[in-house]
Amino acid sequence: MDIVEQLKQNSTLTEDQFLELIKTNDPTLRDSLFTAAQEAVTYLLERKVYLQGVLTFTNHCSRNCFYCELRAENKDMKRYRMNWEQIRAACAEGYHMGLRTFILEAGEDPYYTDMIMCNLLANLKEEFPDCALTLALGERSKASYTRLFKSGADRYLLRFETADPLHFSRLHPPSYSLSTKINCFNDIKEIGYETDTGFLVGAPYEMPDYLVRDLTLMQELSPQSISLSPFVPQEGTSFRRHLPCGLETYLRLIAILRIMFPKANIAAPYRLKHVHPQGQLMAVLAGANVLRVPICPICPAFRCCGPSRASTWDWSPTASRWSWTEATPLWERR
Ligand code: SF4
Repeated sequence: MDIVEQLKQNSTLTEDQFLELIKTNDPTLRDSLFTAAQEAVTYLLERKVYLQGVLTFTNHCSRNCFYCELRAENKDMKRYRMNWEQIRAACAEGYHMGLRTFILEAGEDPYYTDMIMCNLLANLKEEFPDCALTLALGERSKASYTRLFKSGADRYLLRFETADPLHFSRLHPPSYSLSTKINCFNDIKEIGYETDTGFLVGAPYEMPDYLVRDLTLMQELSPQSISLSPFVPQEGTSFRRHLPCGLETYLRLIAILRIMFPKANIAAPYRLKHVHPQGQLMAVLAGANVLRVPICPICPAFRCCGPSRASTWDWSPTASRWSWTEATPLWERR
């Protein structure tokens, strides 16, 4: 029985076998991996692809992860915070486009206290009762996660970034720890959130062995949704001159995870467009079933990866809505 067949039957492999799938130059093995992932999407998920809107409602962050442009020490970053009306209007735009899941994403911004977030969630639930709300707010206390859950949050996205403690320490300041992330993840699961986690792919200092550890940890955590983040060098970080994530490795990991977790939601993030113009589509072909699109008119991701034409967005407080003053088709923009 070949490795892919074993993965299909057991949903796991030995570390050496995972490594072989990640590194193989054998075209037959590679084809067999992607074919099996496609079969899982076709037969188990009926080839359905879901859309989710990502709203980065603040880009302030008190932390300093070395790979992230939102890090507090990046003084060149133009910062913003959105108020309730702006958040509501962005979600309304997304709702009219057909989105029924909103991911409220942020750096760890102490401005948005539990009280503010709970009000925000309750109001969004009231306004969009048929929508699922995912939070991606980083590490918080169990009491805080519980309050947010009770106020209407359905899912929580918390990536562990890398399962290797040494690699983790090279991507984060010394006070951050992998075990804290895992404890937070376990709290989230215990409270009853639908869980979403994943890791960085292509980060500086990454070794293939580390990716195997990531896969093994994914097996232990057993999330309902999976979000792999492709490393893309960002200004304002010490890794700004590193190469971005390799597309082939990223796609193989998506395919492996699809076979390991046949029924999980696996995201194709919009950041993949920085790795390859068709990166999101290729991730779907490799086994992802969720397309994520930015819906925040302020954040830079929207301007380069947004779903609609938007060269200049303005907030009109009197009309309580976003409007664009100049529309340039995506394909005409540089
Ligand atoms: S990865 Fe998250 S916690 Fe770390 S600096 Fe970026 S936004 Fe903040």
